[in-house]
Amino acid sequence: MARLGYDDTPMIPGWKWRVHDSTRPQPQVVAPGTASTPESAGRPPSDAIVLFDGRDASKWTGRDGRFSWKVENGYMEVAPGAGDVQTTVEFGDCQLHLEWAAPTVVKGESQGRGNSGVYFMEKYEVQILDSYDNPTYFDGQCASIYKQTPPMVNACRKPGEWQTYDIVFEAPRFGNDGKVIKPAYMTVLHNGVLVQNHFELLGGTYYDRPPAYAKHEDRLPIHIQFHGNPVRFRNIWIREIKPPEGKKPEQKKATDQ
Ligand code: MG
Repeated sequence: MARLGYDDTPMIPGWKWRVHDSTRPQPQVVAPGTASTPESAGRPPSDAIVLFDGRDASKWTGRDGRFSWKVENGYMEVAPGAGDVQTTVEFGDCQLHLEWAAPTVVKGESQGRGNSGVYFMEKYEVQILDSYDNPTYFDGQCASIYKQTPPMVNACRKPGEWQTYDIVFEAPRFGNDGKVIKPAYMTVLHNGVLVQNHFELLGGTYYDRPPAYAKHEDRLPIHIQFHGNPVRFRNIWIREIKPPEGKKPEQKKATDQ
Protein backbone atom coordinates (compact mmCIF):
# COMPACT_ATOMS: atom_id res chain seq x y z
CA MET A 1 0.00 0.00 0.00
CA ALA A 2 1.29 3.43 -0.85
CA ARG A 3 2.61 5.44 2.03
CA LEU A 4 -0.06 8.00 2.85
CA GLY A 5 1.80 10.24 5.21
CA TYR A 6 4.36 10.63 7.96
CA ASP A 7 4.52 9.86 11.68
CA ASP A 8 7.78 11.62 12.51
CA THR A 9 6.99 15.14 11.38
CA PRO A 10 6.48 17.94 13.89
CA MET A 11 3.17 18.70 15.54
CA ILE A 12 2.08 22.23 14.80
CA PRO A 13 1.23 24.03 18.04
CA GLY A 14 -2.53 24.10 18.57
CA TRP A 15 -3.25 21.45 15.91
CA LYS A 16 -4.36 17.89 16.40
CA TRP A 17 -2.31 16.42 13.56
CA ARG A 18 1.29 16.25 12.43
CA VAL A 19 2.40 17.80 9.16
CA HIS A 20 1.32 15.25 6.47
CA ASP A 21 -0.02 13.05 9.30
CA SER A 22 -0.51 9.45 8.12
CA THR A 23 -3.46 8.88 10.48
CA ARG A 24 -5.46 11.93 9.47
CA PRO A 25 -8.81 10.65 8.08
CA GLN A 26 -9.42 11.03 4.38
CA PRO A 27 -12.31 13.28 3.36
CA GLN A 28 -15.64 11.61 2.60
CA VAL A 29 -16.09 10.80 -1.08
CA VAL A 30 -18.91 12.75 -2.69
CA ALA A 31 -20.20 12.31 -6.23
CA PRO A 32 -20.51 15.83 -7.64
CA GLY A 33 -23.78 16.86 -9.23
CA THR A 34 -24.40 18.04 -12.75
CA ALA A 35 -25.05 21.54 -13.97
CA SER A 36 -28.50 22.67 -15.02
CA THR A 37 -29.35 23.76 -18.53
CA PRO A 38 -32.05 26.26 -19.50
CA GLU A 39 -34.31 23.30 -20.32
CA SER A 40 -33.70 21.00 -17.39
CA ALA A 41 -32.46 21.05 -13.82
CA GLY A 42 -29.15 19.41 -12.96
CA ARG A 43 -28.52 16.85 -10.24
CA PRO A 44 -27.32 17.64 -6.71
CA PRO A 45 -24.11 16.28 -5.19
CA SER A 46 -24.58 12.88 -3.53
CA ASP A 47 -24.38 14.22 0.03
CA ALA A 48 -26.85 17.09 -0.44
CA ILE A 49 -30.21 17.26 1.28
CA VAL A 50 -32.71 17.75 -1.54
CA LEU A 51 -35.19 20.42 -0.52
CA PHE A 52 -37.14 20.44 -3.78
CA ASP A 53 -36.69 18.11 -6.76
CA GLY A 54 -39.36 19.63 -8.99
CA ARG A 55 -42.22 17.49 -7.66
CA ASP A 56 -42.03 16.85 -3.95
CA ALA A 57 -42.60 19.94 -1.79
CA SER A 58 -42.96 17.98 1.47
CA LYS A 59 -39.89 19.66 2.97
CA TRP A 60 -41.71 23.01 2.79
CA THR A 61 -44.56 24.50 4.73
CA GLY A 62 -46.37 27.83 4.93
CA ARG A 63 -46.27 30.15 7.87
CA ASP A 64 -49.75 28.89 8.80
CA GLY A 65 -48.53 25.28 8.66
CA ARG A 66 -49.82 24.69 5.14
CA PHE A 67 -47.94 24.70 1.83
CA SER A 68 -50.10 26.35 -0.81
CA TRP A 69 -47.75 27.34 -3.63
CA LYS A 70 -48.34 25.77 -7.04
CA VAL A 71 -46.26 22.69 -7.93
CA GLU A 72 -46.32 21.78 -11.62
CA ASN A 73 -44.06 21.06 -14.61
CA GLY A 74 -40.97 20.56 -12.44
CA TYR A 75 -41.16 23.81 -10.51
CA MET A 76 -42.98 25.45 -7.64
CA GLU A 77 -44.47 28.89 -8.08
CA VAL A 78 -45.51 31.64 -5.71
CA ALA A 79 -49.30 31.54 -5.61
CA PRO A 80 -51.54 34.58 -5.11
CA GLY A 81 -52.06 35.33 -1.43
CA ALA A 82 -50.14 32.23 -0.36
CA GLY A 83 -47.52 33.82 1.88
CA ASP A 84 -43.90 32.82 2.48
CA VAL A 85 -42.81 29.20 2.57
CA GLN A 86 -40.17 27.74 4.83
CA THR A 87 -38.30 24.49 5.28
CA THR A 88 -39.54 21.98 7.82
CA VAL A 89 -35.90 21.37 8.79
CA GLU A 90 -33.63 23.94 10.42
CA PHE A 91 -30.13 24.86 9.32
CA GLY A 92 -27.11 26.83 10.51
CA ASP A 93 -23.93 27.03 8.42
CA CYS A 94 -24.75 25.75 4.94
CA GLN A 95 -24.26 25.76 1.18
CA LEU A 96 -27.54 26.35 -0.63
CA HIS A 97 -28.26 25.85 -4.32
CA LEU A 98 -31.49 27.28 -5.65
CA GLU A 99 -32.81 27.99 -9.14
CA TRP A 100 -35.46 30.57 -9.88
CA ALA A 101 -37.13 32.32 -12.77
CA ALA A 102 -38.88 35.68 -12.82
CA PRO A 103 -42.19 35.79 -14.71
CA THR A 104 -41.81 35.83 -18.51
CA VAL A 105 -44.51 38.43 -18.84
CA VAL A 106 -43.02 41.59 -17.38
CA LYS A 107 -45.34 43.47 -15.09
CA GLY A 108 -44.42 46.28 -12.74
CA GLU A 109 -41.11 47.98 -12.19
CA SER A 110 -38.42 48.44 -9.57
CA GLN A 111 -39.27 46.34 -6.47
CA GLY A 112 -42.59 45.28 -8.02
CA ARG A 113 -41.07 43.08 -10.71
CA GLY A 114 -40.19 39.43 -10.03
CA ASN A 115 -39.67 40.09 -6.33
CA SER A 116 -39.01 37.25 -3.89
CA GLY A 117 -36.02 36.42 -1.75
CA VAL A 118 -34.29 33.64 0.09
CA TYR A 119 -33.84 34.05 3.84
CA PHE A 120 -31.38 32.20 6.01
CA MET A 121 -32.47 31.75 9.63
CA GLU A 122 -35.61 33.75 8.73
CA LYS A 123 -33.62 36.98 9.04
CA TYR A 124 -30.88 37.29 6.45
CA GLU A 125 -32.18 37.85 2.92
CA VAL A 126 -30.53 37.49 -0.44
CA GLN A 127 -32.85 39.45 -2.70
CA ILE A 128 -34.53 37.81 -5.66
CA LEU A 129 -35.70 40.38 -8.19
CA ASP A 130 -36.01 40.70 -11.94
CA SER A 131 -33.12 43.16 -12.27
CA TYR A 132 -32.78 42.66 -16.02
CA ASP A 133 -33.06 46.19 -17.35
CA ASN A 134 -35.04 47.17 -14.25
CA PRO A 135 -33.36 49.85 -12.13
CA THR A 136 -34.20 49.99 -8.44
CA TYR A 137 -32.45 51.18 -5.29
CA PHE A 138 -28.88 49.91 -5.27
CA ASP A 139 -29.08 47.71 -2.17
CA GLY A 140 -32.43 46.17 -3.11
CA GLN A 141 -31.60 44.79 -6.53
CA CYS A 142 -31.19 41.14 -7.44
CA ALA A 143 -28.51 39.32 -5.40
CA SER A 144 -28.14 42.17 -2.95
CA ILE A 145 -27.98 41.41 0.74
CA TYR A 146 -31.16 43.32 1.28
CA LYS A 147 -30.62 46.90 2.49
CA GLN A 148 -26.96 46.18 3.22
CA THR A 149 -24.98 45.80 0.03
CA PRO A 150 -25.61 45.53 -3.71
CA PRO A 151 -24.07 42.66 -5.70
CA MET A 152 -20.62 43.39 -7.14
CA VAL A 153 -22.10 43.01 -10.62
CA ASN A 154 -25.57 42.51 -12.10
CA ALA A 155 -25.54 38.97 -13.56
CA CYS A 156 -29.31 38.73 -14.19
CA ARG A 157 -30.74 36.69 -17.02
CA LYS A 158 -33.82 37.75 -18.94
CA PRO A 159 -37.28 37.39 -17.41
CA GLY A 160 -38.51 33.78 -17.68
CA GLU A 161 -35.01 32.29 -17.94
CA TRP A 162 -33.80 29.97 -15.18
CA GLN A 163 -31.16 31.49 -12.92
CA THR A 164 -28.98 29.90 -10.25
CA TYR A 165 -27.95 30.98 -6.79
CA ASP A 166 -25.14 29.21 -5.00
CA ILE A 167 -24.84 30.64 -1.53
CA VAL A 168 -22.47 29.89 1.33
CA PHE A 169 -23.95 31.07 4.60
CA GLU A 170 -22.15 31.21 7.93
CA ALA A 171 -24.51 31.71 10.83
CA PRO A 172 -23.72 34.32 13.47
CA ARG A 173 -22.57 33.19 16.91
CA PHE A 174 -23.82 34.82 20.07
CA GLY A 175 -22.51 34.79 23.61
CA ASN A 176 -24.70 34.03 26.62
CA ASP A 177 -25.04 37.76 27.16
CA GLY A 178 -26.57 38.09 23.67
CA LYS A 179 -23.55 39.88 22.19
CA VAL A 180 -22.30 38.89 18.75
CA ILE A 181 -19.14 36.76 19.02
CA LYS A 182 -18.95 36.24 15.25
CA PRO A 183 -21.18 37.95 12.68
CA ALA A 184 -22.93 36.15 9.82
CA TYR A 185 -21.17 35.93 6.45
CA MET A 186 -22.46 35.26 2.96
CA THR A 187 -20.83 34.37 -0.33
CA VAL A 188 -23.15 34.37 -3.35
CA LEU A 189 -22.67 33.20 -6.93
CA HIS A 190 -25.41 34.32 -9.29
CA ASN A 191 -25.47 32.29 -12.50
CA GLY A 192 -21.93 31.19 -11.63
CA VAL A 193 -20.70 34.76 -11.21
CA LEU A 194 -19.33 35.83 -7.82
CA VAL A 195 -21.51 38.70 -6.60
CA GLN A 196 -20.97 38.59 -2.80
CA ASN A 197 -17.59 37.59 -1.40
CA HIS A 198 -17.73 36.57 2.27
CA PHE A 199 -19.77 39.66 3.06
CA GLU A 200 -20.01 40.43 6.77
CA LEU A 201 -23.67 41.01 7.59
CA LEU A 202 -24.54 43.94 9.77
CA GLY A 203 -27.52 42.07 11.23
CA GLY A 204 -30.99 41.04 10.11
CA THR A 205 -32.09 42.47 6.73
CA TYR A 206 -35.22 44.27 7.86
CA TYR A 207 -37.12 46.31 5.28
CA ASP A 208 -38.31 48.94 7.73
CA ARG A 209 -35.35 49.53 10.05
CA PRO A 210 -31.57 49.45 10.04
CA PRO A 211 -29.87 46.05 10.24
CA ALA A 212 -29.23 44.78 13.75
CA TYR A 213 -28.45 41.51 15.45
CA ALA A 214 -30.63 39.91 18.08
CA LYS A 215 -29.58 36.60 19.64
CA HIS A 216 -31.39 33.63 18.16
CA GLU A 217 -31.21 29.85 17.91
CA ASP A 218 -28.24 28.07 16.29
CA ARG A 219 -30.46 26.51 13.63
CA LEU A 220 -33.57 27.95 11.97
CA PRO A 221 -35.55 27.31 8.76
CA ILE A 222 -34.69 28.68 5.32
CA HIS A 223 -37.57 30.59 3.85
CA ILE A 224 -38.60 31.96 0.49
CA GLN A 225 -40.41 35.23 0.32
CA PHE A 226 -43.90 35.84 -0.98
CA HIS A 227 -43.94 39.29 -2.56
CA GLY A 228 -46.96 38.86 -4.79
CA ASN A 229 -45.05 38.09 -8.02
CA PRO A 230 -45.34 34.56 -9.51
CA VAL A 231 -41.63 33.66 -9.27
CA ARG A 232 -40.75 29.99 -9.95
CA PHE A 233 -38.27 27.72 -8.18
CA ARG A 234 -36.65 24.39 -8.99
CA ASN A 235 -33.69 22.20 -7.98
CA ILE A 236 -33.18 23.39 -4.41
CA TRP A 237 -30.60 21.53 -2.36
CA ILE A 238 -28.49 22.20 0.68
CA ARG A 239 -25.33 20.89 2.28
CA GLU A 240 -24.51 21.52 5.89
CA ILE A 241 -21.00 22.86 6.36
CA LYS A 242 -18.83 20.62 8.46
CA PRO A 243 -15.16 21.51 8.85
CA PRO A 244 -12.67 18.82 7.76
CA GLU A 245 -11.26 16.69 10.54
CA GLY A 246 -8.04 18.05 11.90
CA LYS A 247 -9.01 21.67 11.25
CA LYS A 248 -7.02 24.07 13.35
CA PRO A 249 -9.03 24.77 16.49
CA GLU A 250 -10.31 28.28 16.92
CA GLN A 251 -7.80 30.33 18.88
CA LYS A 252 -9.12 32.02 21.97
CA LYS A 253 -8.82 35.76 21.90
CA ALA A 254 -6.52 37.22 24.53
CA THR A 255 -9.51 38.99 26.06
CA ASP A 256 -11.30 35.66 26.65
CA GLN A 257 -8.52 34.17 28.73
MG1 MG B 1 -37.48 40.37 -1.73
